[in-house]
Amino acid sequence: MSRNAESTAFRSALEVIRAVEPRVADAIGAELTDQRESLKLIASENYASPATLLAMGNWFSDKYAEGTVGRRFYAGCQNVDTVEALAAEHARELFGAAHAYVQPHSGIDANLVAFWAVLADRVESPALKKAQVRQVNDLTEADWFALRRELGNQRMLGMSLDAGGHLTHGFRPNISGKMFDQRSYGTDPATGLIDYDRVAEAAREFKPLILVGGYSAYPRKVNFRILREIADSVGATFMVDMAHFAGLVAGKVFTGDFDPVPHAHIVTTTTHKSLRGPRGGMVLCQPELADQVDRGCPMVLGGPLPHVMAAKAVALAEARRPDFADYAQRIVDNANALAEGLLRRGATLVTGGTDNHLVLIDVSGYGLTGRQAEQALLDSGIVTNRNSVPQDPNGAWYTSGIRIGTPALTTRGLGTAEMDQTAELIHTVLTQTTAGANADGTPSKAKYALDAGLADKVARQATDLLATYPLYPGIDLS
Ligand SMILES: *Cc1c(COP(=O)(O)O)cnc(C)c1O
Repeated sequence: MSRNAESTAFRSALEVIRAVEPRVADAIGAELTDQRESLKLIASENYASPATLLAMGNWFSDKYAEGTVGRRFYAGCQNVDTVEALAAEHARELFGAAHAYVQPHSGIDANLVAFWAVLADRVESPALKKAQVRQVNDLTEADWFALRRELGNQRMLGMSLDAGGHLTHGFRPNISGKMFDQRSYGTDPATGLIDYDRVAEAAREFKPLILVGGYSAYPRKVNFRILREIADSVGATFMVDMAHFAGLVAGKVFTGDFDPVPHAHIVTTTTHKSLRGPRGGMVLCQPELADQVDRGCPMVLGGPLPHVMAAKAVALAEARRPDFADYAQRIVDNANALAEGLLRRGATLVTGGTDNHLVLIDVSGYGLTGRQAEQALLDSGIVTNRNSVPQDPNGAWYTSGIRIGTPALTTRGLGTAEMDQTAELIHTVLTQTTAGANADGTPSKAKYALDAGLADKVARQATDLLATYPLYPGIDLS
């Protein structure tokens, strides 16, 4: 395929859009420029391939396809069946999963599907069996009332937010925290690592229905074999949310005890983070849960997005190619180089390093909050996000950490030498930024000072660093 094809495709698409609403076409063009020019270290973002992007912009978007492959509530779904079946097949083969459900619109939606699947399997189905009826509609009012109380009184044990867990793992600002009685496990204060004995102890005391593994901001591998043993010891269903590190599982960087798929009863993920697909979610599960998982739409999900399922099929096909394993290994090599570069310059990292795609800098050593550091880095052309560190004294809004990740820059082609230069830029900004004060003289958690000339200089150096590795080299919109 000629590179020219990509330029032609996107230029033509913009021309068609421009004829209707030129401001949208301009914003799409401007977004490409912004993405090309910024040093993107957001651990959850990536750059999907042109093929993945193009698979989303078409008439699949017009089709209703409630139901599953071959069992739709709408007529004329044969082509949707083709792409959904392909996406599921690629997902099963890629991850070695018994079953894949590719309809969830996002990671959060995938988690909701998984929660309801487990509740239905462990609570609703036994209640129906006991009442000798097939559907909830056939229950007596008294049985229905009792079942609703049962469903609303289940327990979930997940990783605490400040140790890197996700809001959807049973925390109150999210519906999961209102659906479940939640308790969380943290990390060892001395090492920053998960203490599996403490997890086992919490499980024994709390007896959760669901034990959740997985994280958004934990820079280390997780031993899923041990977590499964803990779940089994208390009769819990073991769920893993691999939203962040699915690409490392797909690329066989995480194998054996560190691959969640053979160990968990049910695995959820996003498709747009390290997996590098379209924005979306997915559920993989053991055969026993497949029927419940397939009820995701319309149980908790809106109608499927066939255009996104088409893009999932394309991206998963890409992830099955040998060069994706190479990509996944480079993500981890780059994160290591970034961590070493920062450590060598005196930074403090949560757990002292990384063995995945992300690094968590504790910026309190620079006398800054996460918010101040995030803004100062942004002024300098470096896009990161602030994040709590374990036992964070600054809470979830200001925080004391900066989370950085390498999936996006690795997609552009940057390597370990550039990661060392990136560490230098980050270190320069953080050492040169000073915390500001409030009007009454008390220290501010938001205000900061950074010399504008220095910020500009770093931003230029960041642009230079990126110049050798153009984003979407095959796309020229000019
Ligand atoms: C990002 C993330 C999600 C949410 O994914 P969305 O696609 O934004 O809904 C869920 N769980 C974890 C662990 C995540 O990191």
